[in-house]
Amino acid sequence: MSTPTASSKEPAAGKTDRPRPTPPARYRNYIGGQWVESLATKNAPNVSPADTRVTLGQVPLSTPAEVDAAVAAAASAFPAWRETPAPVRGNLLVRWASLLTQHTDELAAILAWEEGKTFGEARGEVLKATNIVEFMAGEGRRMGGHTIPSEMPRTFVYTVKAPLGPVAVITPWNFPIAIPCWKIAPALVAGNTIVFKPATLTPWTAMRAVELLHEAGLPPGVLNLIFGSGSAVGDQLVHHKAIRAVSFTGSNEVGTHVYTEGAKRLLKVQCELGGKNPLVVLEDADLELAADATAQGAFGSTGQRCTATSRAIVVNHVADRFVELLAARAKKVVVGDPLKDGVTMGPSVDDGQFQTVLKYLDVAKQEGARLVAGGCRLAEGDHANGHFVAPTIYDGVSPGMRIAKEEIFGPVLSVIRVKDFEEAVHVANDVEFGLSSSLYTNDVNRMYRFVDLIETGIVHVNSPTVGGEAQAPFGGMKGTGVGTREQGSVAVDFFTELKTVYADYTGTKRTTNIY
Ligand code: NAD
Repeated sequence: MSTPTASSKEPAAGKTDRPRPTPPARYRNYIGGQWVESLATKNAPNVSPADTRVTLGQVPLSTPAEVDAAVAAAASAFPAWRETPAPVRGNLLVRWASLLTQHTDELAAILAWEEGKTFGEARGEVLKATNIVEFMAGEGRRMGGHTIPSEMPRTFVYTVKAPLGPVAVITPWNFPIAIPCWKIAPALVAGNTIVFKPATLTPWTAMRAVELLHEAGLPPGVLNLIFGSGSAVGDQLVHHKAIRAVSFTGSNEVGTHVYTEGAKRLLKVQCELGGKNPLVVLEDADLELAADATAQGAFGSTGQRCTATSRAIVVNHVADRFVELLAARAKKVVVGDPLKDGVTMGPSVDDGQFQTVLKYLDVAKQEGARLVAGGCRLAEGDHANGHFVAPTIYDGVSPGMRIAKEEIFGPVLSVIRVKDFEEAVHVANDVEFGLSSSLYTNDVNRMYRFVDLIETGIVHVNSPTVGGEAQAPFGGMKGTGVGTREQGSVAVDFFTELKTVYADYTGTKRTTNIY
């Protein structure tokens, strides 16, 4: 394995424009308020996707005893954290948000370097994470229940939200700060304690975010960070008796496993999984705007977003013109080192994801899709040592093709031509996923009809399938998700149980109710 490391070696993309922080030699777990060296004998290298000769530290594959220690720390911190008033718990998040703001550029550089999205995209992600933490801080002051009229005299019926206990937060690599924040912030403000297992591909962003939470005044044991493989550490958390809920974001394959295993012990499980998001273009759409949105959704973050636009469903009448506009936008994408100024699309995150994308380029060829742009890896010059794929567009894709049905998670767009609005909606819904969708039209009637009929948890009208705001619920339908929504005030629901209270203040003992 190639060693050192970033600080001793410049990436092949030549001159780089952003300062690069120095990575740790080996990542440490954070248990009971202490940064502790793992006892693991096996590590996974954190490899830069833009230059695979560069290793950004070693990630320990933590042992079962270390997972037990992290859970024990969360369990022993729970009673005091539960008793901490919710507005005071929120104040911790206010301080965390402030530190995230102070460190935005540093976090963005780390994120871009280890994950591969461009510095600008990474900055956007850090800002989103900060917004979420800020918004959730306020939930500490808003987390009320309901008062309910009783059938009985002098009886007060009301609800309160109670925390669950120690919970596990298991996250993917593609939004390595926003997704942890949108799980950790509501879990903490609701009074739970946490064992956080980030993706092994993006340990550095996770570690820095937790360092800043520590600096914000996190009491020992309230959040514990443990590095390791999903099949060992993640699985152990799902099966651990002291863990009262699992909030998981990741692939359908792993999510199904987590949900099934959790169900065996009636564990509360939240799963946010894959997407195959459609953007529908009708004949009255502003085609320039629709093409901008499609290119942004398909190629932004290298297509590695659960909300990426992977299908453009276009009515025949405007399809030729629309494809021309798309091809022009694909040509303008500058692929390269994400920390270099002027680069607008980075690499696939690792060799596994890269090979998956290349496999789908072969599948598209075999299926007879018509290549409009890209369709190949980039391996010359500055691209020689990274996982770079050209932004790719296929036209003439039919709804039954694999590239129209399966999540690719790369910069690959399928254009599906349809005769009218009804067929467009049918095709849009004809996949197992249901995360995000978009409609480009100026017809208000068809806009509302689309909202009625589309089977996705997020619906955009004349805006891209990607993006969302911290205060609005986020999540999918069908194969994309189970459990309650994340982000917005509703995010707290997953991390709380509702207690219904009947308080009799008649002052007399009543043995039967009015019936
Ligand atoms: P993944 O399923 O491979 O891994 C996700 C996390 O689960 C990682 O931390 C991994 O270590 C862990 N894990 C793996 N095996 C496990 C097991 N047996 N038990 C418990 N945990 C285990 O997903 P990924 O490749 O990191 O992320 C990409 C996927 O995430 C894509 O499918 C994408 O669509 C999805 N995603 C969904 C959303 C959403 O909100 N719907 C957001 C981002 C990403």
